[in-house]
Amino acid sequence: MAKNSSIDKTKRHVILSYENDSHFHFLNFEHLEGDTMERTTKNRESILKIIESSEVPLTAYDISNRCKISLPTIYRALNFLARNGDIRSFTLDHYAYYYSSAEHKHFFRCTTCERLFPLYECSIEDYEKHLEDRMGIKIDEHFILFTGTCQECLQQR
Ligand SMILES: [Zn+2]
Ligand SMILES: [Zn+2]
Repeated sequence: MAKNSSIDKTKRHVILSYENDSHFHFLNFEHLEGDTMERTTKNRESILKIIESSEVPLTAYDISNRCKISLPTIYRALNFLARNGDIRSFTLDHYAYYYSSAEHKHFFRCTTCERLFPLYECSIEDYEKHLEDRMGIKIDEHFILFTGTCQECLQQR
């Protein structure tokens, strides 16, 4: 369930309020009972598994190629998982890419073959401290995407 959800059984509605916007989504409570509720949970679990088992961030389309779940359902699950903090996303060339928030990593993108590579080294703590002191801010997290030419493409030059 979303963080701010309230269930009013007399009206048989589930009201989900989104944290960052003022849109309210009214869903008929009956549709979320039993089988549908179970399927929703199962879909979210399998989508999260696909993302977690991938080395690189995936688009919704990539995910749809790895399971039999429809794109609209995938988008709904992705929104839920992102709100829940299970996954993070970024936009690149107009596509949203999703990756697991379980492990901290940076990414490298080759501008020649357009592949994404994960980078597991992170050594910018000193830089964060420097910024916090200098600007009087508190940094919670960071996202880094390097671009350039990968080893394979370099060798083909
Ligand atoms: Zn390349
Ligand atoms: Zn880092």
